[in-house]
Amino acid sequence: MAEQDRFDVIVVGAGNAAMCAALAAREEGARVLVLEKAPAEVKGGNSAFSGGLFRFAHQGSEDVLSLVPDTTPAEVARMDMGPYTAETYSDDLIRLSEGRADPELVRVLVDESYDTMRWMQTRLGVRWELNRQSPRQEDRDTFLPGNELTAWGGGAGLMQQLFHAAEGQGVDVVCSASAVGFLTDDHGGVCGVRVKTGGEIQSLEAGAVVLGSGGFQASPEMRARYLGPGWDRMKVRGSRYNTGEVLDRAREIGAFTSGAWSRSDSAPADLDSPDAGVLTMGNLYSRNSSRLGIMVNTEGRRFTDEGADFHATGGVELGQAIWAQPDGVAYQIFDQQTAPMVEGPYAVGGRPVIADTWEELAHELSLDPETLRNTMTEFNAAVQDGVLNLNIKDGKGAVGLTPPRSNWARRLDQPPFVAYRVTTTILFTYGGLAVDPEARVLDGAYEPIPGLFATGEAIGGLYYRHFSTGSGLMLGSVFGRIAGANAARHAG
Ligand SMILES: Cc1cc2nc3c(=O)[nH]c(=O)nc-3n(C[C@H](O)[C@H](O)[C@H](O)COP(=O)(O)OP(=O)(O)OC[C@H]3O[C@@H](n4cnc5c(N)ncnc54)[C@H](O)[C@@H]3O)c2cc1C
Repeated sequence: MAEQDRFDVIVVGAGNAAMCAALAAREEGARVLVLEKAPAEVKGGNSAFSGGLFRFAHQGSEDVLSLVPDTTPAEVARMDMGPYTAETYSDDLIRLSEGRADPELVRVLVDESYDTMRWMQTRLGVRWELNRQSPRQEDRDTFLPGNELTAWGGGAGLMQQLFHAAEGQGVDVVCSASAVGFLTDDHGGVCGVRVKTGGEIQSLEAGAVVLGSGGFQASPEMRARYLGPGWDRMKVRGSRYNTGEVLDRAREIGAFTSGAWSRSDSAPADLDSPDAGVLTMGNLYSRNSSRLGIMVNTEGRRFTDEGADFHATGGVELGQAIWAQPDGVAYQIFDQQTAPMVEGPYAVGGRPVIADTWEELAHELSLDPETLRNTMTEFNAAVQDGVLNLNIKDGKGAVGLTPPRSNWARRLDQPPFVAYRVTTTILFTYGGLAVDPEARVLDGAYEPIPGLFATGEAIGGLYYRHFSTGSGLMLGSVFGRIAGANAARHAG
């Protein structure tokens, strides 16, 4: 890479969104350069940290199985899998955004989702696999609609496969290279980037630029600026390189913003989580099973409805509730019936506190024993009879409690009791740049900025109140494919 080199398309970032854009531009015949701020050993952005789940619209198991042709007859025989139609996907995105998601972007994401899954499989060589996190009950694998497939090897596997495709298809990826500004022409169009690498700043010209640089969750200053006081202290679950400066630089050349800048995906995690994500630890610090037990704060009191919703749609609320507690700390408590049902990461990455009585548990957690005993006694007395069903909101709550308990309540009366210390970590931010359905970045007059495209978490407009699991990667791939192809055409 030298200043005299001229690329058709420069892609900023090397996560899933950026790599899909780069490969789509290459497919159109463009000469493509990818600039990745992170060093090579930790390249791949939040995408490499992710679970690799992709949410896409389909008509049922036949559509899904054609993406995982190596599924065995035995696996097929024990699976329960219904359709996840375009209508349901759109409704979910609109509902979870409380009606604020941009309908045009929703339409593109949903309508292009299945075709993009196929494109990744056939043109980029991405292998899909059945979602191993799907609940198994009575020997049946039940797939929550929209949660059927992950990339083979999760997020890390996804990125390995995309880098492999890039290598095979002649896309250059330069690591430890930060985009620090844009080159613009006399018409306000973008014609290149300024990049800092090896302590030097270079100006690289290009026919078009695609931003796949993610959100701003790893910048304490931007978190405090947009998410609120105290958010600068929060630990980051994913990459430490998504620090948002590209969004600032884009705004300086006129880019407009979209989406909920004061909101983020932040969810319960182990109190021992590192300050920023460690790639090899993946999702090991996630603590998403509080719906099976209860959560108390450092005063030994419940503070939220642990069973209000599935983690997929209620995790953000739980995260926010924990962060509002003293020191942003809580304890998730289970008994011998519920502890074996918690998600896998608890067993691998957790350091449980185990005790035979509530008093002992309170002592171990430095809680007031009487308050904890009262909390537990009150909860157990309020649990409704009935059959637990983890696949639906079963309405088996606990009656008359404040805060209420709506679903999946079981009496916690079989010692030893097991507690995990949790806090809240941020995964990613919702606000980003305004784009149109062609992935062109818009200015404040809602006009495209010539030569500037964006995808993935760098764009806003889809998420406001909640994110729907699996949509982050799907969004990056769908709009990455569009952005890359359009950037190549613009450059050509
Ligand atoms: C623990 C965890 C689990 C998740 N699981 C899922 C899941 O299963 N399914 C799902 O859909 N979503 C999941 N998500 C969300 C998902 O990871 C993101 O939605 C998705 O990865 C965003 O992709 P992206 O390509 O836009 O950004 P990223 O993958 O974060 O890529 C951004 C890239 O830009 C680079 N960059 C930043 N600034 C610069 C700069 N100045 N110059 C050059 N490069 C720069 C970064 O280094 C990085 O490579 C998860 C997130 C986390 C943290």
